[in-house]
Amino acid sequence: MPVKAYDLTGRTAFITGAASGIGRASAVLLAEAGATVHCADRDAQGLDETAGLVERQGGTAHLHTLDVSDRTQVADAVAAAAATSPGGTLDVMAAVAGIMHSSPVLETRDEDLDRVLAVNFKGIVYACQEGARTMIAAGTRGSIVTMASGAVDTGGPGLLCYGAAKAAVVQLTKTLATEMGPHGIRVNAVAPGWIRTPMTSRHDADAQAHTEALMVRMAPLGRVGEPEDVAQAVLHLASDAAAFTTGQILRPNGGVAMPW
Ligand code: NAP
Repeated sequence: MPVKAYDLTGRTAFITGAASGIGRASAVLLAEAGATVHCADRDAQGLDETAGLVERQGGTAHLHTLDVSDRTQVADAVAAAAATSPGGTLDVMAAVAGIMHSSPVLETRDEDLDRVLAVNFKGIVYACQEGARTMIAAGTRGSIVTMASGAVDTGGPGLLCYGAAKAAVVQLTKTLATEMGPHGIRVNAVAPGWIRTPMTSRHDADAQAHTEALMVRMAPLGRVGEPEDVAQAVLHLASDAAAFTTGQILRPNGGVAMPW
């Protein structure tokens, strides 16, 4: 690691959603920066593949198969991760796991709202709570990174459930940042633009190509994002390079949205 502030050697990171896409890329990059990574997801096979990527570059990955919307499962996994770390703590919690949902407001059912809020909002609340409690108990000046979305900056048809959950993640991030500051714990959100992952590739090929072409036209940088673009933002916020940054939203989005 050429820049010391990005060196995570000796640190322990817990990453949800680590079996795929942005979570996987984040786990691999944090491990490359020196962290021992605890990878959590409901997809056990995907977790194995992530572990293979981490270990191929000489890193150490521990795997936790869980549902982030189940508070007990999250608490148990975080406790197990802290118990295996040298200081009995976590230095980084990256709450990345999420699902996509699109339906017009007038067709949105209670079960859609409940499912998306359970995973995309409560799942991130639970990870933040367990991560923060663990850091406070050990006196660790850690970093919590949440995963919001560019959906918080723009309206869009079909985005009621997903966008509302992500807006709630931003509010969680700012609130928790104010409460954790006195403990020396930083809390920041990442709000990516369109990133090419399994989540955004579940459409048919024509719809995929159409959406990507639109995103490319909208982006000053003239391309869609890759998971590694977001992982770099996660690493930045997780590391000492962001030591004076808390309560902020970092937007790896190619310039599609430029809020104040
Ligand atoms: P992805 O490739 O689908 O990865 C998400 C991972 O989270 C998957 O392995 C998924 O498992 C897992 N997961 C979903 N629900 C879970 C649950 N209840 N418990 C445990 N694991 C669960 O998606 P991604 O694009 O990397 O997205 C990662 C995060 O970035 C999400 O929060 C997403 O909203 C956010 N984001 C993505 C984009 C984008 O353009 N891709 C843009 C902005 C924000 P399954 O495969 O079994 O569902």
